[in-house]
Amino acid sequence: MKIIIWFRNDLRLHDNEVLYKANQKASTVIPVYIFDPRNFKKLDLGFRKTESRRASFLIESVADLRNNLQKSGSNLIVKIGKPEDILPALAEEFGANEVYTSEEVTYEETNVDQKLEENLKSTGKKIVFHWQSTLYHIDDLPFEIRNLPDVFTQFRNKIEKSTKVRAIFKSEILPFETENIGKIPSMKDLGFEENLSIETRGVLDFKGGETAGLQRLQDYLWNQDLLKTYKETRNEMLGADYSSKFSVWLANGCLSPRMIYEEILRYETERVKNDSTYWLVFELIWRDYFRFVALKFGNSLFFSEGIQGKNVGFQHHQRIFQQWIDGETGIPLIDANMKELQLTGFMSNRGRQNVASFLVKDLNIDWVWGAAWFESQLLDYDVCSNWGNWNYVAGVGNDPRENRYFNIHTQATRYDAQGNYVKHWLPELSDVPAEKIHLVGLLTNEEQKRFSVRIGVDYPKPLVNVQKWLKK
Ligand SMILES: Cc1cc2nc3c(=O)[nH]c(=O)nc-3n(C[C@H](O)[C@H](O)[C@H](O)COP(=O)(O)OP(=O)(O)OC[C@H]3O[C@@H](n4cnc5c(N)ncnc54)[C@H](O)[C@@H]3O)c2cc1C
Repeated sequence: MKIIIWFRNDLRLHDNEVLYKANQKASTVIPVYIFDPRNFKKLDLGFRKTESRRASFLIESVADLRNNLQKSGSNLIVKIGKPEDILPALAEEFGANEVYTSEEVTYEETNVDQKLEENLKSTGKKIVFHWQSTLYHIDDLPFEIRNLPDVFTQFRNKIEKSTKVRAIFKSEILPFETENIGKIPSMKDLGFEENLSIETRGVLDFKGGETAGLQRLQDYLWNQDLLKTYKETRNEMLGADYSSKFSVWLANGCLSPRMIYEEILRYETERVKNDSTYWLVFELIWRDYFRFVALKFGNSLFFSEGIQGKNVGFQHHQRIFQQWIDGETGIPLIDANMKELQLTGFMSNRGRQNVASFLVKDLNIDWVWGAAWFESQLLDYDVCSNWGNWNYVAGVGNDPRENRYFNIHTQATRYDAQGNYVKHWLPELSDVPAEKIHLVGLLTNEEQKRFSVRIGVDYPKPLVNVQKWLKK
């Protein structure tokens, strides 16, 4: 029997159930990856669904997958086009009866799946889905998805009490040879400028692929021994070490959450077990939660009213939105974070919460726009984590606290007390004394003018009056 495996957000050989099951069952396994042009299209908002840094990371990840498959005696066919058309044609060409792939849960992905299933069916072939993106397997949950608790803590308590994380899969890989494997597209083939600008201020020089993902796991836990302090550092914003940065590899499936979990357990045995080691697992459970939330609530995840169906009356002001995108809001903490995102494709969790809250709660702009911008930029874009977190911050998701509001000034003075993060991304403010830096944007017009003259900087005036942040 011949089986095609269609790689999607599971670009790895380790702990890959699709790979394992196909190699167990088939006499020939044909690995395929497809770049779908719909994921790179230009949106009405003026930017592409996947912008260049994310695209580049994906190209690297696919190249690494091909390389690793080749080293194991197999190969990877790479195509550009619609999976629902390409896969049935490949199945015909190779005489494969089945297509194995990872199960996705959201609208665009499942739409493609449905069409593919129909097209395969019409030629007597079938698609088989395997669940593998989460730490806890969906079949092991102690409740039906429709009964998923609406509060994270309840979800976590239930699964921690009754569910075990499954062991990882170790695949034998069958040899596969073919002449025409297809070229991995260049940036230009996907419609981008060939070369990305180099930004040396980023937290890490992120490289796509399983090899780099496993290396980061090794570095963070074993070589640098950073896990033991994760809980204390995870809210910082500057540098490689404050958090794991596993998200970029998790999002593309270059790292499996169960692999991380196994390594954490080993670290707890061989090094230390403490609140920090548990906390990384805790965060991975959040990741699971957003995937199950997406499955439970379906399409409402992507609409302004969110999964609560709450009409907040957000505005659609293109110019203000653009200033937010470009880091020109006049609020240093926001601007620094938005510059980091645009220049590197990454932003800390603390940064994300602040810029999202500011867009929605202070500028009153539709969070859907913000989520679309994050989708286009984030190297770690994950449909469920992104849209789920935005729902949450916008107050239309399942946050048990009504009207959670971030006072950005308080946040800035707590998490960037010396202004080092802001100065890193906004060097024009480098001469502003630490105690003044987060007051920029909060002064009255007159004060702001005098201040600008004194520091010799023409920093943007704040988009909204947020002096309320100074009042207790
Ligand atoms: C508005 C907004 C949008 C976001 N969009 C994404 C996204 O597209 N993709 C994404 O992976 N994360 C997203 N997050 C969650 C979080 O910011 C990132 O996972 C985290 O910053 C990644 O850095 P890290 O790997 O160093 O995290 P660590 O702090 O080291 O955490 C370890 C892992 O836990 C998971 N995790 C941590 N926090 C969260 C969270 N709040 N929600 C879901 N998973 C979490 C991630 O997989 C992460 O890699 C978003 C958060 C917000 C507020």
